[in-house]
Amino acid sequence: MTQNTQQQSSSVSKISSYLLLIVAIVMSLAIVAIFSAVYAYMIDCLIQAGFLLIIGAFALAISLVVLYQTRRNAAALQDEAPKVMTIIECKNCGTKITRDFQRGDFVFKELGACEKCPEQKQMITGVYKEIKTKEKTYAI
Ligand SMILES: [Zn+2]
Repeated sequence: MTQNTQQQSSSVSKISSYLLLIVAIVMSLAIVAIFSAVYAYMIDCLIQAGFLLIIGAFALAISLVVLYQTRRNAAALQDEAPKVMTIIECKNCGTKITRDFQRGDFVFKELGACEKCPEQKQMITGVYKEIKTKEKTYAI
């Protein structure tokens, strides 16, 4: 579970750094094209100037759109990272504790003794995913 999320986030950051490199290249080419357009305009090559300006503006627009989309996707991924919680209960006194999910947690698993009643063991009664928008609960 934890390994999966780590692999996912590392591959996402790999893709976005690869994309950022492409965006940087396209953006620098766009700037070169715009400067060439200015130069062509100064030496009275108006057709070439217009052509270079269109290419430069188009490339700049594309790189800005890609950059904006990547940022937005990255933000959305961070927001949706689900948090898994575990509910621990004592059947004797009814004490209920919710804590972060730990590796090896499962429903009906017996844990250490309850703080209030040492003869009664605590038991996991629920494991659920915490999502901001919608919440799915797998509790008994
Ligand atoms: Zn108890």
